[in-house]
Amino acid sequence: MQFKLLIGTNNDGKVKEYSRLLSDLPIVFTTPQQERIISEPNETGATFSENALIKAEYYACKTGLPTLADDSGLEVDALEGAPGIYSARYAGVAAPDNENNDLLLSNLSDTPWKSRMARFSCVIALAISGHEPELFEGTCDGYIAREIKGANGFGYDPLFYFPALGKTFGEIDSDSKDAVSHRGIATNKLFKRLRWLLI
Ligand code: IMP
Repeated sequence: MQFKLLIGTNNDGKVKEYSRLLSDLPIVFTTPQQERIISEPNETGATFSENALIKAEYYACKTGLPTLADDSGLEVDALEGAPGIYSARYAGVAAPDNENNDLLLSNLSDTPWKSRMARFSCVIALAISGHEPELFEGTCDGYIAREIKGANGFGYDPLFYFPALGKTFGEIDSDSKDAVSHRGIATNKLFKRLRWLLI
């Protein structure tokens, strides 16, 4: 029997990343769009974990399908953890990535390099009917660059400087990002759990 897993997001960048990261498992992926779900859950949680659970349970309930959903974002120390759970809408609801990046750069314009520490966090929730929902977490530390560098990835990738590689996430390919990123780490934990479930 084929295992169908709903990736509970309308963000194409995330759908691509999850399909790639879990591609070695015997899973057929689907999305809210493919399941013709137009409505979206309200992300009313105060943490990445709460929002991931809200999204996974919303889509699992709508479709009856095993569902993963994540909540992720960027926390900048000098901005007391902002944009955090508001990362996608930092410059306003539905703001494009370049506007979020510009706002971040302008809010850090007086911040010296050593104080530009930041962290990507990702929490993935897995909701399967008849099971307690489970959470898988990953974080990744870096610095906010002074200017956009690279065109790869999405969101804040071109501003997220990863010291171990000496590059921003916008300058590295997807395999290199997967190996070190918050989402890669969390997905690795999810991968092991799904493999165990599918045996
Ligand atoms: P979410 O869809 O509510 O989880 O919003 C996550 C937001 O955080 C994205 O829209 C991006 O702005 C940012 N973000 C999360 N993960 C990444 C990443 O891997 N690269 C760049 N930006 C990210």
